[in-house]
Amino acid sequence: MLIRLLTVAVVLSVLGFLPASSANAADGFELTFPQEAEVTGFSNSWGAARSGGRRHRGTDLMAPKMTEVYVAADGVVTRVTSSGRAGRYVTVTHADGWETYYMHLNNDNPNTNDGRAPWFLTVAPGIYVGAEVVAGQLLGWVGDSGNAEGGSAHTHFELHRHGRALNPYPYLRDALERALIPPEEHTITAAYIR
Ligand SMILES: [Zn+2]
Repeated sequence: MLIRLLTVAVVLSVLGFLPASSANAADGFELTFPQEAEVTGFSNSWGAARSGGRRHRGTDLMAPKMTEVYVAADGVVTRVTSSGRAGRYVTVTHADGWETYYMHLNNDNPNTNDGRAPWFLTVAPGIYVGAEVVAGQLLGWVGDSGNAEGGSAHTHFELHRHGRALNPYPYLRDALERALIPPEEHTITAAYIR
């Protein structure tokens, strides 16, 4: 028992999780980590300066092109579209005024940077405006579309509530912790905290 607890503590500290933060507990909104956790890197860049005097309003989930992107919580798809900065992107509306954005999705044909991929290489089957989706469902694939073109592939992930962008970083950290630790270890951790 103690050894297993220590194992959890070591894993968490290696991942930079200690002290455990549970920013979500207060508002009750829990995310499923929205990308293949094992190959995704991210840091807190909320508010960082961007071109044209803009501020960074999301978290960049760095991963190789075509890494799987997942729906972060149950909801309804509200946009499957593209824009100059965001590139190809999807938004999902959840209960209680929550919304998630998944930007810079793949727009390239295999082994090219042509920006001309058909949309079935951008979003997964079943992802269309009005579709009901569930947490963890395959949403699409990582890319470098929009102003990520020429840079490193990543998903620019945003979290909004009632139309206002919130820093998704603490939610993502919490979600990553749950994604990487097997369920039986969760129980042990919970027992330990209690
Ligand atoms: Zn970004």
